[in-house]
Amino acid sequence: MRRLVVVGGALAGHRAAIQARRLDAELDITVLAGEDELPYQRPPLSKGYLAGTVSAQRVRLRGGGEGYRFLSGSPAVGVDLAKSLVFTADNAYPFDLLVVATGAEPRQLRGFAPDEAIIYLRTLTDATRLKEALTRIGHLTIIGGGFIGAEVAVTARSLGVNVTVVEQSSHLLSRAVGQRVSSIVEHNLHERNIELLLNSTANLETMRDHRLVSNGTQSWPTDLVVVGVGVVPCTAWLGGALPLAEDEGIHVNEMGLVEGFEQVGAAGDVASWDHPLYGRSVRFEHFEVATNHALHTAQALVANRRVAYGELPFGWSDQGDLLLQVIGVPGPDLTEEVEEVEGGKIFLYRRDDRLEGAVLMNAPEELTKLRDRITASLGSQ
Ligand SMILES: Cc1cc2nc3c(=O)[nH]c(=O)nc-3n(C[C@H](O)[C@H](O)[C@H](O)COP(=O)(O)OP(=O)(O)OC[C@H]3O[C@@H](n4cnc5c(N)ncnc54)[C@H](O)[C@@H]3O)c2cc1C
Repeated sequence: MRRLVVVGGALAGHRAAIQARRLDAELDITVLAGEDELPYQRPPLSKGYLAGTVSAQRVRLRGGGEGYRFLSGSPAVGVDLAKSLVFTADNAYPFDLLVVATGAEPRQLRGFAPDEAIIYLRTLTDATRLKEALTRIGHLTIIGGGFIGAEVAVTARSLGVNVTVVEQSSHLLSRAVGQRVSSIVEHNLHERNIELLLNSTANLETMRDHRLVSNGTQSWPTDLVVVGVGVVPCTAWLGGALPLAEDEGIHVNEMGLVEGFEQVGAAGDVASWDHPLYGRSVRFEHFEVATNHALHTAQALVANRRVAYGELPFGWSDQGDLLLQVIGVPGPDLTEEVEEVEGGKIFLYRRDDRLEGAVLMNAPEELTKLRDRITASLGSQ
């Protein structure tokens, strides 16, 4: 009987395992999960779950842990590809096929070690602590003006908490989009009386038993700090056994498999895959990408269906009544154009004549059309 080991028991790991089960009823499937939780989804953790509108039950992924052996609290600590073994602290798991789905973890900010009043938001446990804190605090400081920072800011403010967002660069979402989209997000925060400190580096100070955050020109007392300064793919446990791309993700080919080790695939936030339309390797931290990439990788591994994964990446961010949807690969270094559409706007991102990505602002009905436009533009070059 063939044995599949999946390392990582969250979204991509769960999806890969259930797809593998659909494809092969006899396959022996073991999922090694780092967390002590059945598989769950993260998007509500900065929005509905924090606000109390989405319950812990609804955060769980349907069918999580069913149809495969799910070993919670069993992080992999190493792999021996020559012997086809994955190691945990107290066991070795032989495999014929391996999927790495270890996701990403928050980048640590120097001077802000996590403690009871400094939270890095990634897991359900982090979100539960934050949710509880938001019911009793008066002021929250968020360090980092990316999607997660903006979402937490809006949610906390909706619960009556005063919020200051500190961002190092001159505009929000500076690594992901252009200035026009940034301005819309900034405007949305200003409208909610969220204080925004741009071009600011945060430092933590302690005065008697109070914590102060300063940015060099001003300092303020705060009850809680949330740090959201990006994530790094979880690859340290591999000890260099698999090749990494420039963006630090595990480098896989168009099919989701590791070149030279075709019994091994990777999917989700940890994987950087050769995208057939972009002609380069890309890595995303989007729910839909993790889901579909995992299905695809499982098919390539388990059923030997070697089809390139060429879907356009898609992600979204809800910030109160502002819905941003990201399709393709926009970026701050591309030309940004705006088009007005009914109810919202779309922002197009071009490299020379090539339409590489778009951001939709409150315009979900435009998504299919844009997907086709970007695919056609990329395919014609
Ligand atoms: C707060 C928050 C809000 C988000 N909101 C959105 C949104 O609105 N829209 C959107 O498109 N995307 C959103 N995302 C991103 C989306 O949730 C991720 O892209 C998705 O979770 C990636 O899934 P994954 O399974 O690849 O990785 P992860 O969800 O990171 O799961 C990886 C799992 O592997 C485990 N692991 C790590 N190392 C090991 C090891 N050595 N052994 C075993 N297990 C290990 C981890 O503990 C984790 O459980 C959000 C993310 C967060 C954190």
